[in-house]
Amino acid sequence: QANERESMFVVSEFAQENFEHNLWETGAGKAIGLSYFKERGFLDSTIRKFKLGYSLDEWDAFTKTALDKGYQLEFLEKTGLTIVKEEGKHFDRFKGRVMFPIHSMSGRVLGFGGRILDTQKKAAKYLNSPESDIYHKSKVLYGIYHAKQAIAKEDSCYLVEGYTDVIQFHQNGIENVVASSGTALTPEQIRLVNRLTKNITVLFDGDAAGLRASLRGVDLILEQGMNVRVCTFPEGDDPDSFARKNSYDDIKAYLAENAQDFIQFKASLLVKEAKNDPIKKADTIRDIVGSIAKIPDRIQQEVYLQECSRIMDISEDVLFNTLAQLHNKEV
Ligand code: ATP
Ligand code: MN
Ligand code: MN
Ligand code: MN
Repeated sequence: QANERESMFVVSEFAQENFEHNLWETGAGKAIGLSYFKERGFLDSTIRKFKLGYSLDEWDAFTKTALDKGYQLEFLEKTGLTIVKEEGKHFDRFKGRVMFPIHSMSGRVLGFGGRILDTQKKAAKYLNSPESDIYHKSKVLYGIYHAKQAIAKEDSCYLVEGYTDVIQFHQNGIENVVASSGTALTPEQIRLVNRLTKNITVLFDGDAAGLRASLRGVDLILEQGMNVRVCTFPEGDDPDSFARKNSYDDIKAYLAENAQDFIQFKASLLVKEAKNDPIKKADTIRDIVGSIAKIPDRIQQEVYLQECSRIMDISEDVLFNTLAQLHNKEV
């Protein structure tokens, strides 16, 4: 079992090198992959730092090369790099995609995200390595290897949605940033950050669509006793596109001005949504108190009840009783 995992790591590291080689050294890689990254505003040094790559647009170019070099099909298949259809028929999972290797806390290659270049095509924009003995997507945060020192030093962490948000922030000098890579946040992912800092700021894409759904994930951060702030970006922007247009100072200023305590943010959002509808307002009370109930510190809970009473124009007694009810249900 340990040997199997080691073999999977070795194959993954070879894949990373192969994709990187394609990007810098092959005609197709340079014309398609490298120019794509450059159009996105990534500098050579950034592309090298994150070991970005390109998987050739041929059915089995990667698999063939790997087999030629003596890597075993078994581990190519177990890491999901190769898809085996039937005896003797196999093809490359990431054919024709630009590649983002996903590293563990200690810098080993666990898996990949691959982005399609032509989003007109029907295939998914991003494709990820499948779950395997070395890649558990619920336990991984993209960028943690490159961010860990900065997170500890700054004693804070930004949590973003995508690979490119992490990379563009780094290029702009902000290195304490990790991504959940589109999946719903998990307690294991939060624990990775929690070991390094208690302060987290969640940066949401400015597309609003995912915002409501993402709020539940934030409760998991509260549950671990962390201080949570949130920040949204202007409509149509995400941290990547925003960072591309702005300097380090601008970004820092924007974050300082717009990042807000999570409970306050959520309470304000709920008030706007409920307007004067009594039924909705009742739901919002349950919702916000549900979040406050996740906070382990009872004194903080009390402070938040006061705050929310003010923001939502609801008596503190009502909020307090709702919280007490929730606590009773738990025991
Ligand atoms: P880009 O700027 O390259 O278009 P993005 O990083 O802004 O992409 P979003 O659409 O905001 O992408 O999604 C955030 C993250 O969610 C992505 O970085 C990726 O990890 C994941 N993701 C997005 N689309 C898909 C998909 N179709 N399948 C799987 N994961 C996806
Ligand atoms: Mn998004
Ligand atoms: Mn995005
Ligand atoms: Mn984007």
